[in-house]
Amino acid sequence: MNYSEKRYISYGVITIFTLLLPFITINGNHILLLSFDKLQFHFIGFVFNMNELYIMPFLLMFLFIGIFALTAMFGRVWCGWACPQTIFRVIYRDLIESWLLGLRRIKNKQKDIDYSKNNNKIKKYIGVFLWIILSFVAASNFMLYFVPPEDFFIYIQNPSEHLILFMFVISIALFLIFDIIFMKEDFCTFACPYSRIQSVLYDDDTKQVLYNTNRGGNIYNNGQKSIFDVKQWNSNEECTTCEACVKICPTHIDIRKGLQVECINCLECSDACSKVMAKLGKASLIEWGSTNAVIKKRINTIFSKRNIAYLASLVFCIVLAGYFASGKEEFLVNINKTTKLYNIEDNGLVSNNYLITLHNTSRKTLNLGVELIDNDKYEVKRFREVNLNPKQRVKTVLIIKVKEKLLLSNKKDTPLKTKIKFYDKNNPKINVIKESSFIYPRNDLLK
Ligand code: SF4
Ligand code: SF4
Repeated sequence: MNYSEKRYISYGVITIFTLLLPFITINGNHILLLSFDKLQFHFIGFVFNMNELYIMPFLLMFLFIGIFALTAMFGRVWCGWACPQTIFRVIYRDLIESWLLGLRRIKNKQKDIDYSKNNNKIKKYIGVFLWIILSFVAASNFMLYFVPPEDFFIYIQNPSEHLILFMFVISIALFLIFDIIFMKEDFCTFACPYSRIQSVLYDDDTKQVLYNTNRGGNIYNNGQKSIFDVKQWNSNEECTTCEACVKICPTHIDIRKGLQVECINCLECSDACSKVMAKLGKASLIEWGSTNAVIKKRINTIFSKRNIAYLASLVFCIVLAGYFASGKEEFLVNINKTTKLYNIEDNGLVSNNYLITLHNTSRKTLNLGVELIDNDKYEVKRFREVNLNPKQRVKTVLIIKVKEKLLLSNKKDTPLKTKIKFYDKNNPKINVIKESSFIYPRNDLLK
């Protein structure tokens, strides 16, 4: 199996996986969903509310370090084998334009299509029409990672009430139409930030698409092409100067010139060279390997100091994310003081009112009670026990009062710290402790 066939399998698996992932749930929760509607983040079946996104920094660190590690070890393997831009271009250019409509040959991507022929013009419109449909499918699929399918398919039946969702789908689809039909590989070369940073992550151990100058000979000298014909060789250089590797390149470069920012690591040039060299009973002159392995003939190990450092950083991020995820609270509590700072009863005792929001984030019903801790000056005057079903959120009132009259300040009101513990009466180990302020009036108001 050549590289292109392996890549097509990779594209198929990634496309099916990406299309199906939003529909897969674990106990009713999604594998990957960032819902701005419900202010929730779903990750492999766990639900995090926006105010408990403490694992997010570690996931982002894992993502960025992972990209750096992947690039340092395997070059632009992402670009050639998994990037949506590359997959979409292969669908439009190779599948629709070349294979389905026969507008050009896959092995010669540099040849311009002759649009003076009416037949080709009609085929072009058919190709564009097919891509417009696929763009809307891709844009809708992308939005399913932000609006879950159970809501998305209801919302799209009501466009006037969900204009923002529609605008997102249309904008993404329009971008994909412009990008894939008009920008083409220029997006990789001029717009993609990843292609700009990759060169600083490369070293001689990084795997990349390499023309083996030891075997093929130097076609370029100081960046200038000096060999145009096989007859110019002096000794046993193997490159036939057939240019098959150049004609097939989707980014229109000549890999024999060396590493270039335009190279998306698709290895089509390697496959093209394989076919040419196979006729001579030889292996491809273009390989996927490191400079040390292919050119300098040195053995490089995956367990280099650089790779071990990357691996250790990734494990560290996962351990921290796991640690913080394990400390995830079973329910969330939000305490707000009411607008009235305090009440002074006839007997001179002071009470404060609080508006409490309780949100059950666990999968079981909770029976919540409250107690004050580390303070013997106050007591709970009013709090009605709350039964919370899974995912349910309720608002309730808590009133705290002092047990006896205090004399604190003659000049101003005094904020006192209170520690309030909310707990499940069936399992007191499930609890949340919050600090709040108890406002006590100045002395003259108590007389
Ligand atoms: S040189 Fe061109 S064909 Fe070869 S891997 Fe790079 S982008 Fe693909
Ligand atoms: S396909 Fe191979 S033999 Fe032909 S020009 Fe390219 S490197 Fe040389």
